[in-house]
Amino acid sequence: MYSIIVHGGAGEHKNTKEAKKGVIRAVKKGENTLKECKNPIKSVEESIKVLEEDINFNAGRGSVLTKKGEIKMDASIANSKKEIGAVANITDIKHPISLAKKIMKNKDHLLLGGKQATKHAIELGLETSNPYTKKRIKEWQEKKEQKNPPYSLSDTVGAVAINNKGKIAAGTSTGGKSLKQDGRIGDSPLFGAGTYVNKDIGASATGTGEGIIKSLLTSKVYEKYNKEKNLRKAIKKSIEEHTKHISKKINSCGVIAIDKKYNISFNKNTTHLPVAYTKEGEEISSNL
Ligand code: ASP
Repeated sequence: MYSIIVHGGAGEHKNTKEAKKGVIRAVKKGENTLKECKNPIKSVEESIKVLEEDINFNAGRGSVLTKKGEIKMDASIANSKKEIGAVANITDIKHPISLAKKIMKNKDHLLLGGKQATKHAIELGLETSNPYTKKRIKEWQEKKEQKNPPYSLSDTVGAVAINNKGKIAAGTSTGGKSLKQDGRIGDSPLFGAGTYVNKDIGASATGTGEGIIKSLLTSKVYEKYNKEKNLRKAIKKSIEEHTKHISKKINSCGVIAIDKKYNISFNKNTTHLPVAYTKEGEEISSNL
C-alpha cells in the first residue's frame, strides 16, 4: 500500500488549468518513484522537483521576487525518524528540495541559509539554474509601482508520501512571499510550521508564513490528530483555530497531510489550494 498527495500553494492561481496539469504531473512522478524504490523521501523529492521546474509555481524556477528584485528560496524535507533537512534564502540552485535532502543526512546541522548554503550546494555538485522568469519579473514590476504594494502569496509547493512499510515523508519548497524584505524567511523551511512528520502523520502547509510560524500549523495538525484520531477533522480544526487566533492579515493557509492508516486529507481557508493525490490501486484525483 502507498499514498501520496501534492499541493501547489494557497495562492492566487490565476491559471487553474496549468496548476492542475502541474500537480497531476508531480503526483504521477512521486507515485512512480514510490513504485520503483518504495522510498517516501525520494518520492517527495521527485514530486517537488517537477513543481520546482514548472514556472507556474512559486518554487525553484518561477519563484517570486523580493522587494529588491531577487529570488531567495526556502525548502524543507523530513521523514518519520525526524531526520530533517532545510534551506533558507538560497539562490540559483535548480532544486532547493534536493539540497534540503542532502542536508538531512548531516549529523551536525539541519538548516543552512544564505550565500553559504548556495555555495555548499555547488560544492555538493547540485545543479544551478536561472530561476527568473518573464512572468515573475513582470508581476514584480507591476507591484513595485503601486504605492503600498501588498505582500502576496503565490503557488508554493509541497508533498507528503507514505510507503508500503508505513514510513512517511513530507516536504515544502517556495520562493516565499512576493516583495518580501531581503533576508525574510517564511515557514516553509521550519519543522513544525511548514513541514511536519512523525510516525503517525506527515504534513505540508502553505499560506502566510508569519501566521503559520505563530501557530506552528503542521505540528498543530498532529496535536489535533493525536486527540481526534481523524485526519480530516484534525486539519479542519487546526485551520479553524488558526483562522480565529491569527490576525486576518497573516492567517491565509492551506494544509495537506497523510496519516499512518494511508488516509489523505487537505483543507484551506483561501480560495485556491490545487492538490492531486492517489493511493495504490486508485486513479489520481485532483480538486481542480
Ligand atoms: N508559506 C510561504 C511563505 O510564507 C508562502 C506560501 O505558502 O505561498 O514563505
